[in-house]
Amino acid sequence: MSDFHLIPRVTITHTPTPLEHLPRLSNDLGCNLYIKRDDCTGLAGGGNKTRKLEYLIADAQKQGADILVTVGGLQSNHARQTAAAAAKFGFQCELVLEDVAGTPKTDYYHNGNMLLDRLLGAKIHELGQNQDASEYVEALLTQLRNAGRKPYFIPMGGSNVLGSLGYVRCANELLQQLEKDNIHIDQIVLASGSAGTQAGLLAGLIAAKSDIPVLGIAVSRSTQDQEQLVTELLKETLTKLGINPDEANVRVFANGNYYGEGYGITTPAMISAVQVCAQLEGILLDPVYTGKAMAGFMDLCNTGVIKPNSNQLFLHTGGSQGLFGYQESF
Ligand SMILES: *Cc1c(COP(=O)(O)O)cnc(C)c1O
Repeated sequence: MSDFHLIPRVTITHTPTPLEHLPRLSNDLGCNLYIKRDDCTGLAGGGNKTRKLEYLIADAQKQGADILVTVGGLQSNHARQTAAAAAKFGFQCELVLEDVAGTPKTDYYHNGNMLLDRLLGAKIHELGQNQDASEYVEALLTQLRNAGRKPYFIPMGGSNVLGSLGYVRCANELLQQLEKDNIHIDQIVLASGSAGTQAGLLAGLIAAKSDIPVLGIAVSRSTQDQEQLVTELLKETLTKLGINPDEANVRVFANGNYYGEGYGITTPAMISAVQVCAQLEGILLDPVYTGKAMAGFMDLCNTGVIKPNSNQLFLHTGGSQGLFGYQESF
């Protein structure tokens, strides 16, 4: 893996995040289910973006930036973790956040991640449903530069090659835990959105010569579109690690059957999955990502696609703070 350990990184994440067995949910689903608790990464509520930010913050420091700018939905967990990392490392933070059609509105604008973004001191630019975020961001970056500022732009979900490296590290951490506890895993399941988590994890597994399959339950795209997005970023990440990008072939699996009408829009199966996990295991999922991924996982177990008694690992990528933006749906 060429010079992976030489790539600049700040330390934020509480590692290793716990690897736990879920006996009551396993019993319910007929498989043997483990959970990797990346909801416990430790930064202002935690979640998967914290690992990505370790590399992105180091890069922003290297470039002499003084302000972080990123984009997402109004209840973006990525935006919250970026605001927290900005505070911790002394950057200002501006968040360009889009309203999402079809989401419950009572608490969407002020509670959950929005409450925390404001508390963490970020400046929020709220966009309406038909405003173009990339145009808005371009204008904002130009305006900041003209005012003598040095903005550092982090793409949606922190999903570029640098951000994905956070999940290359996570793959190594997980493989060590599995080895130490002598656990064999047949498949890893996670929620896949902007793709950095799945691409980084796969790159780390490939680099370590592990053939554990990774299934990404898509939260906003068809199977084919999600697989393409993950594959592109995986190839770039492998290249960065000095690994032949062709190793990405036949490693990327997504499932686009569980996101319902669209990103952030609730489904009955998501509501049920969140309730079942809370009530059987005391684990809080989220309405946008992990709830839909778990709903998909449960359905694949119930329909026999996931083999009974197989060993499955669910990567909990965080997001429970978003529940408070969705209270009326529960
Ligand atoms: C962003 C996010 C994801 C998706 O991760 P990507 O790297 O964007 O695919 C999953 N779960 C939660 C809770 C998230 O906030």
